[in-house]
Amino acid sequence: MAKDGKAREKGAGRKPARPARHKKQILMIVESPAKGKTIEKYLGRGYTVAASMGHLIDLPKSRLAIDVGNTFEPEYITVRGKAKILKDLRQRAKKADAILLASDNDREGEAISFHLKNALSNGGTAPDIQRITFNEITPKAIREAVSQPGQIDMSKVNAQKARRVLDRIVGYSLSPLLWKKVKNGLSAGRVQSVALRLICEREAEIEAFLPEEYWSLEAELRTGRHTFRAALAALRGEKPALTNEPQTLEVVNALKDAAFVVADVRIAEKLSRPRPPFTTSTLQQTAANRFGFTARKTMQIAQSLYEGVNVGSERLGLITYMRTDSTRIAESALAEVREFIGKEFPGDLPEAPVTYATGKGAQDAHEAIRPTYVTRTPAELKKSLTSEEFRLYSIIWERFVSSQMNPSKASTTTVDIQAGDYTFRASSTRVVEKGFQNALTLLASKEQTRALPPLATGDRLELVKFHPEQHFTSGPPRYTDATIVKVLEEKGIGRPSTYAPIISVLLDRYYVVRKSRQLIPTILGKLINDLLTRSFPELLDPNFTAGMEEKLDQVEEGKSDWQTMIRDFYGPFQSKVSAVQETLESVKGVMDEKTDVTCDVCGRPMVKKLGRYGFFLACTGFPECKNTKPVPLAPCPRPGCNGEIVARKRKRGRGREFYGCTNYPACDFVTYFKPTDSKCPKCGWFLVEKEDRQRGSYKSCINPSCDYLHTKEADDQSA
Ligand SMILES: [Zn+2]
Ligand SMILES: [Zn+2]
Ligand SMILES: [Zn+2]
Repeated sequence: MAKDGKAREKGAGRKPARPARHKKQILMIVESPAKGKTIEKYLGRGYTVAASMGHLIDLPKSRLAIDVGNTFEPEYITVRGKAKILKDLRQRAKKADAILLASDNDREGEAISFHLKNALSNGGTAPDIQRITFNEITPKAIREAVSQPGQIDMSKVNAQKARRVLDRIVGYSLSPLLWKKVKNGLSAGRVQSVALRLICEREAEIEAFLPEEYWSLEAELRTGRHTFRAALAALRGEKPALTNEPQTLEVVNALKDAAFVVADVRIAEKLSRPRPPFTTSTLQQTAANRFGFTARKTMQIAQSLYEGVNVGSERLGLITYMRTDSTRIAESALAEVREFIGKEFPGDLPEAPVTYATGKGAQDAHEAIRPTYVTRTPAELKKSLTSEEFRLYSIIWERFVSSQMNPSKASTTTVDIQAGDYTFRASSTRVVEKGFQNALTLLASKEQTRALPPLATGDRLELVKFHPEQHFTSGPPRYTDATIVKVLEEKGIGRPSTYAPIISVLLDRYYVVRKSRQLIPTILGKLINDLLTRSFPELLDPNFTAGMEEKLDQVEEGKSDWQTMIRDFYGPFQSKVSAVQETLESVKGVMDEKTDVTCDVCGRPMVKKLGRYGFFLACTGFPECKNTKPVPLAPCPRPGCNGEIVARKRKRGRGREFYGCTNYPACDFVTYFKPTDSKCPKCGWFLVEKEDRQRGSYKSCINPSCDYLHTKEADDQSA
């Protein structure tokens, strides 16, 4: 029998199995039970389906397990806790006449199939083992896949191996360095460190940003019974820059008795094209923006839609594979959606199918994420789906259907109104032809402008009143799941399978926290980023990481050799690690930074230490004196008080953090808003960090009688 197995290994693997003594038994192996359950329903008798539960074979956790400097071959073991599953699969394999490996159609899936093939061939009792792939789980797609099984794609397996080895080498080199130089138990990864760098750089920009004041001026005007508002747009053709209240009131005064006359009315029509169907990255961005889903949550929901849900008495895989960077659409799906549009939105069907450019490097074996049955509308499926599944399915369906429809047409009317030397401008937009927007419900644009009354050049308007308003410029926004995924894709860092895990790892390690959807680096995260970017500028360079991703793609396409790629990386990287080991001063010292604060218990000096929630002061007399206290954040702004503002926690109840004066109870200054390092440009008191829905997070003056960025809703929360 061993001979038999060997022979087949070499053969084309396409030969029909030996004449059946009994009904031929075929075992199909997928990676998840949910997927198995769906496929099982589509297969006839003679098939059974088993689940491998993800990877069964991988690198051990406890050691490097890579033949570094030589072959770079990894030393694989059975994943802890998976031995029983493997044993069970082996037994089922023995009873089968043929095995079809049906793990997901990407690098990870190919590697799972490769390891399964090796594990199940052991002992020489191997039946015929072949690989099948498909992009959707429908009876048609499964039948097609089963009818043309093939061999494992070793280029994909090698690309997965190369990534695993590369990440392992980087992780196992950087982590001990962090233990030695920063703190025990830390770890750092290759791609996550670059994402952390982007998040930290953005935070530094935000910290350095000071909002600037500016004013807008609108005139409320009347013609007949209608009133409308026009905004100040120009002073003698130049854009006026109003930076404070007196300047703005000067304009108001100058125009009190001016005549407001319509100088120009322009109408422009504009076509808006539909957006392409979703890829992993655009799906994650849209679900984050529309529903506040994290990237990870979007992937979990998409996976269940892909693997199959129960719809009435049927079980259906409702969308195509969710890890993809392609916007390609299969011919058959295109024909179906055009037929559907022709019936449901007959006026909005273009003559020819709409084509979309696919991003460079996209793997075109894949397809865009689209519904597998376009005739199953979200409304029809609503009762079979959870509310989250419904929302995700809806936007996938809407985006796909609309992508093959006509553009929409809007007409914008712009009116210029002259008052003395000043020009005011009003505009309104109206949709003339809805086109693809007819297919949008959850994705429908909410933008609406108020219609303008009928106006003609030369019309005189009556001034009702002026509306001057104070504003502040806003700084760069913090990254969210949506925007970090966008920038990672733009920079070529990560791939559809890695965007969500990159964010999760940073959160799990407490290098970044997520607050009101924003990704904020912790002090620990900033410290590690600082150390890594200083020590490994090349490794942490987004361009370098993008280059590595491209090299992995080349391995996947069979255009380059994985070992050569790793070898080229390993040499220079290893000498850099050794050099850093020698020269880098320990950051542990930074965390024990001396201060001029003396211990109020024993009088010895205190040092700054890093705890899980940030810095605190500890007595140098430790362990004799265990006194600790919060780090002063800013001087107390109360006139005559020389105390400092520190973080405090309520003793009773749920401990919301607040900030109070060290001279309490003599000084009872408190605020719920965290002091920043910045001083108010208007009055010199310190600025605090505030947040509201409209603006996100921003800086605001703590001085109640100063108007530097005060907003009503935020102030109501102050203590
Ligand atoms: Zn002390
Ligand atoms: Zn005070
Ligand atoms: Zn101020």
